[in-house]
Amino acid sequence: MKSLSLFLFLLLQVLWVKAELINIGIFADYSIQEFKFNARAGAYTIFTEKGRLKEITPEHIITVSYVDTQIEITDSGKKLGSFSKVSFIGTGWYNHFKISLKSPIQKESRYDDNLKIQLTNKGLQLINNIDLDNYIAGVVEAEVGRKPVEEYHKLQAIICRTYALANLKKHFADGYNLCDRVHCQAYHGKTFYDQISKASQSTRGMVIVDSDINLITAAFHSNCGGETVKSGNVWSKNLYYLDEVIDTFCIKTSNANWEKTIPKEKWVNYVVAKAPKVQKGDLKKDFYPERRHLKYMDEGGIPVEDIRYDWKLRSTYFSVINNGDNVLLKGRGYGHGVGLCQQGAMEMARLGFSYSDILHKYYKGVHLINLSALEFFRED
Ligand SMILES: [Zn+2]
Ligand SMILES: [Zn+2]
Repeated sequence: MKSLSLFLFLLLQVLWVKAELINIGIFADYSIQEFKFNARAGAYTIFTEKGRLKEITPEHIITVSYVDTQIEITDSGKKLGSFSKVSFIGTGWYNHFKISLKSPIQKESRYDDNLKIQLTNKGLQLINNIDLDNYIAGVVEAEVGRKPVEEYHKLQAIICRTYALANLKKHFADGYNLCDRVHCQAYHGKTFYDQISKASQSTRGMVIVDSDINLITAAFHSNCGGETVKSGNVWSKNLYYLDEVIDTFCIKTSNANWEKTIPKEKWVNYVVAKAPKVQKGDLKKDFYPERRHLKYMDEGGIPVEDIRYDWKLRSTYFSVINNGDNVLLKGRGYGHGVGLCQQGAMEMARLGFSYSDILHKYYKGVHLINLSALEFFRED
């Protein structure tokens, strides 16, 4: 029974990946009053609730605005009508378009595939209806930029695809799957960098699953400082594959170390208020953990997560050193420390490790599966 449901799960996923497009709420933070749509490649047809309205080419500049509850469309100043639903659907072999926001902000971005428009009580809501791998390529560029080597871009594509498929219902109430903010995954539109497009295409359908074949929580952070953190130490839930991992690859990279100086009086007052059991005399000793600690001053001390939050520290992995009238916090790493360490992974990729080796280092006991490789699972 379990293998049958697993089979059905995978089959559904495969059909989904092959047949469907994903809906991304773009400019999700803005209340848009008006924008211009311009086809940049391919051809587009405008559809409304009344059906097909018009075919447009890159020569057409379409203005979209609204009055009351109706979306208004004009083509080079000529009004095409008022509608409740509007979509721009690509009909060429390869289609992308440009959006120019006029209000409330001036902004231009390019997107692959289709655009749907909804009118909400906030204004116009733009939804990029896009092929999953085109979306993943845009996310990879927004999340990590063009600098990393190709193997790292492939790995980031697999992580971002896993996240997207695991969170398809996150914006169900808003009428789309995911937003374009860091709330979901940063996405600023189409990539024009070949290496990133290829990384997404060449890992098509590839995702990370746990021992029950569920998509994993593919957590990552900038730099672990030499040791990653168990998920349960940061969030309430312990996930077996988000365990502590010793990492020697990141310790010489840009976000490996940080320092913060705090006036001693301020620090002592803070510690005494937060942890009344700690003796003031103990604060004269330096705190110098060799491994990550859950608490500063161990028994009766302060959770390092609280200290990170209260003092806006880059990480929870730090020493406290007395230095005259000040204390010096010498820290390691950047971010929550759970899951994949990006700078360590980038260094591994640069040294020639495969994305599979790298993923298995940071996510323990997971499986990398291609959703279209069903034959393999049929044997089970
Ligand atoms: Zn979101
Ligand atoms: Zn690391």
